Amino acid sequence: MHSCDVLIVGGGPAGSSCAWGLRSSGLEVLVLDKARFPRNKVCGGWITVPVLRSLGIHPDDYRPGRTLQPITGFRVSAMGQHETEIDYERTVSYGIRRCEFDEYLLRRCGVQIREESPVTSIERFSDVWIVNGEIRAKLLVGAGGHFCPVSRHIGNTNHEEPVVAQEIEFEVPPEQSASCSIRPEIPELYFCDDLKGYGWCFRKNNFINIGLGRMDHIALPRHMERFLTLLRTTGKVTFDLPARPAGHAYLLFGSSQRKIVDDSIMLIGDSAGLAYEQSGEGIRPAVESGLLAAEIIRSSEGLYNRARLAVYSDLLVTRLNPGHAYPEKIAKHLPTHLRNSLARMLLKSEWFCRRVVLDRWFLQ
Ligand SMILES: Cc1cc2nc3c(=O)[nH]c(=O)nc-3n(C[C@H](O)[C@H](O)[C@H](O)COP(=O)(O)OP(=O)(O)OC[C@H]3O[C@@H](n4cnc5c(N)ncnc54)[C@H](O)[C@@H]3O)c2cc1C
Repeated sequence: MHSCDVLIVGGGPAGSSCAWGLRSSGLEVLVLDKARFPRNKVCGGWITVPVLRSLGIHPDDYRPGRTLQPITGFRVSAMGQHETEIDYERTVSYGIRRCEFDEYLLRRCGVQIREESPVTSIERFSDVWIVNGEIRAKLLVGAGGHFCPVSRHIGNTNHEEPVVAQEIEFEVPPEQSASCSIRPEIPELYFCDDLKGYGWCFRKNNFINIGLGRMDHIALPRHMERFLTLLRTTGKVTFDLPARPAGHAYLLFGSSQRKIVDDSIMLIGDSAGLAYEQSGEGIRPAVESGLLAAEIIRSSEGLYNRARLAVYSDLLVTRLNPGHAYPEKIAKHLPTHLRNSLARMLLKSEWFCRRVVLDRWFLQ
């Protein structure tokens, strides 16, 4: 039987960040993931600048042999309406490919890793966890994404309404590359008419990522179809997609009701339901929750009861919840029809796109 102090289930951005935060802590740490890396992850691959900063990654160290697309602005519109381009003339985000980014984070995290090891059973004996009948751990960190087995073990169900999103990422055919009008440094955001989600078109070097996420799974395929038709009719995409888009779900912090800590258990990233409410950005909260969990574990002196770990969920609330400004509180109470018409009108305004959509919602 293998014994460790901390067993991290899931080696995505949340799990690898927590592991990195625990390197050289003197604790025996093991990361288990069911996949072999590099593995793909359904995602747009947009990260904000604080993600690299929090992880101490210099862009020049990450870039060699990988895609790191600087983003200096965005084109914003209500789908099919006037597009407003906002250019910050400096790097405000990056585009990465998850197959590369997640592997980079995992390989450098500095603790023991076991790949192709799905967690299939979690049992409690006295004061230790026994996982898969063969690993003993004092503390379990659930970092297995939306369907994390550790999250399920403490009673979190998947009955809450998630964001559902679909995307496809592929290399632009070389003969179409010069005529593709999506500029790598200016991704495009297209809000759905009812403001329940948005589509994106995002070029990273020669890779393009097209996707759409919504708070309503039933209408997702219809909105995605409509979005793809729009991209074809406006000449943004002039070639056939090589495959059907793939989908996944995740929860937004604020609307998620997930329990985040229990005795000798902490959840981080999508396992805890932490994505930012306005933009759906999930990588930054995954990284920040992983680092915060590591900080709390380091200071817990081996005592992992629920009362001791509760400080983690309290700190998450203050760190991740930006709070709503007064106009957003009012908007929530407007009749849907009125709110949507107002938003469509506002999305034509450069001031609104820059100050509200980008500065507040996407770049925080
Ligand atoms: C279509 C789409 C687009 C998105 N675009 C963006 C974006 O552009 N920017 C952004 O910031 N966020 C985006 N997100 C959200 C983002 O992908 C997630 O919030 C982020 O991946 C969360 O990281 P994580 O480490 O918590 O989970 P994950 O990245 O899902 O990692 C979980 C890991 O756990 C492993 N695992 C799962 N079950 C088990 C098990 N039983 N045993 C062992 N291992 C297991 C998995 O193999 C995986 O490696 C998008 C989401 C979707 C669906």
